[in-house]
Amino acid sequence: MRLLLLGPPGAGKGTQAIHLAERLGIPHLSTGEILRAVASKGTTIGREVAGIMQRGALVPDDLMVTIVRDRIAQSDARSGFILDGFPRTITQGMALEKILDSAGLRLDRVLELKVDGAMLLDRILKRAADAKASGLMERADDNEEALRVRLDLYRKQTEPLSDYYRSKGILRSVDGLQTIEAVSHVLWEAINT
Ligand code: AMP
Repeated sequence: MRLLLLGPPGAGKGTQAIHLAERLGIPHLSTGEILRAVASKGTTIGREVAGIMQRGALVPDDLMVTIVRDRIAQSDARSGFILDGFPRTITQGMALEKILDSAGLRLDRVLELKVDGAMLLDRILKRAADAKASGLMERADDNEEALRVRLDLYRKQTEPLSDYYRSKGILRSVDGLQTIEAVSHVLWEAINT
């Protein structure tokens, strides 16, 4: 099964993607995680990526497409995957379709987590506070300024993708404001209908 999770920052995509990946026995491909690993290396490109992420801006499409093309080609993704954080622009969406098409593959479902903008700021600031309290490393982009940029980019660049996938009949939108368990349950139903 090939799945894609759409949703604004703080909607709970990562948590839900981990559950789904475990349940389906497919890898969870998070471009944010891949990029954080790239950024943690002191290379020129790592420093560039770290700077972009810290501002809440988007890493250029061509680099993202290369990263995802390589990751999807790995053997563990052969029987399926759940993409979290990609595509984020129409250009990325078209590139993904081309990559899958050329391998005779297609997305089975696009799952959209809907969460009201005002709730997102609270969620992300809480995530940052929890990470700090438990001694985990805080995300450099979990602050109010970067979040505003991330939300704005989501509305302008990423949200239009939901119309595209709706027109293809594979979009399922779910209320992301319920408990983690309830969202998980509804998502499970959504991939099976
Ligand atoms: P995430 O963990 O999905 O919230 O992503 C964290 C940050 O990584 C984003 O705010 C962007 O700076 C960058 N990023 C992740 N995925 C993409 C993507 N598909 N295109 C561009 N930038 C991305």
